[in-house]
Amino acid sequence: MDATESRRQFLRQAGLSAAAAVLAGPAAATALAPLTTTTRFMQDANQKKVGFAIVGLGKYATEQMLPNFKNCQHARIAALVSGSPDKARRLAAEYGVEPKNLYSYQNFDTLKDNPEVDVVYIVLPPGLHAEYTVRAAQAGKHVLCEKPMANTPEECQRMIEACRKAGKQLMIAYRAQYEPFNLDAIARIRKGELGKLRMITADHGRQVQPTKDPADAWRVQKKLAGGGSLMDIGIYSLNAARYLTGEEPVEVTAQEHSDKADPRFREVEDVIHFTLRFPSGVLASCTSAYSIEGVKRYRAFGDKAWLDLDPATDYNRHRMIIGDQDGERQPQLKEGNQFAAELDHMAECVRQNQTPKTPGEEGLRDIKLIMAIYEAARKGKPVKV
Ligand code: NAD
Repeated sequence: MDATESRRQFLRQAGLSAAAAVLAGPAAATALAPLTTTTRFMQDANQKKVGFAIVGLGKYATEQMLPNFKNCQHARIAALVSGSPDKARRLAAEYGVEPKNLYSYQNFDTLKDNPEVDVVYIVLPPGLHAEYTVRAAQAGKHVLCEKPMANTPEECQRMIEACRKAGKQLMIAYRAQYEPFNLDAIARIRKGELGKLRMITADHGRQVQPTKDPADAWRVQKKLAGGGSLMDIGIYSLNAARYLTGEEPVEVTAQEHSDKADPRFREVEDVIHFTLRFPSGVLASCTSAYSIEGVKRYRAFGDKAWLDLDPATDYNRHRMIIGDQDGERQPQLKEGNQFAAELDHMAECVRQNQTPKTPGEEGLRDIKLIMAIYEAARKGKPVKV
């Protein structure tokens, strides 16, 4: 139960208790005492959850993450950090965050004095991830950071080092690695259901609309986004190829095309096609684009069967199809809550002092590979990694 729900329940129960006591006198008030105890217990339970400070109240934070804390067993919203006090106050009222736990980017570092905050969750444009991760670690907080981890491998290294020095966990929010259809696909491949894995195709694309959607404005600015479609959504193709094979690529090739007459692509790339060669011989052929209608899919081909996830990395409504020489079938899997699973994983790692499944090193690997892919596209030659 999140703070809002527990507060609502508290008010509901407090209201009922008071009304009943007025009607029935002091004896009834005593008889109702266990209700209050239950409420206190629930409030205590909520307080015992790991407290998260959400930094950046943009589209993803407000539309996906804040609403999903109510589905968490171990994580709760403890504080909000925003450059817009009105927005922060409105969301604080909605999610039961105390006014004293609202912060700006200027007083961000005073989070160190707030014992209710265990984890700082960074949902800012990638160009700001390194700065806020380092500052959060220096404030003595664990860090959950959105993907892509940062603009460069050097920034990723600084983030890892700052958290290591502070003795704090660092997790990168690769939500697909907490999503049941993706976990099921990995399990089937590991069990050999497709036979020997031979190749993977993965595609991610959408229309980026910086003039229509404020959340897309930073996506076409190199300084804030680090790059274009590859950094933002091609990273899902790349990360999927790695978690489906369970291997690290040894060589990449790439080709890029961006129409420089389109103002969206003056600083960042549009279409990029890249291949990854894995040690077992698996070849992955991946794409991303900022100028096509939405696609978020992959297919893994084994020597006995193929597995298709389309969409593979959406927020919901995933669909898996497995095909072989006897035909196609659609396993009936249950949609899960990847957002709550991801937040709860971070909370449990903090409680148990364990390294997260997707630590800073996982984010760094992708950023290093992305740099190699850009290099291969620039040089028109394979790059060993
Ligand atoms: P957004 O623009 O809606 O949110 C970014 C927030 O950062 C805004 O509230 C903005 O005000 C704030 N901000 C603070 N300083 C800023 C500055 N100097 N310039 C620009 N913005 C500044 O973007 P978003 O789509 O919510 O993305 C935020 C992060 O979340 C990115 O890292 C993105 O890759 C990630 N994201 C992840 C997923 C996912 O599925 N895991 C989905 C969408 C976005």
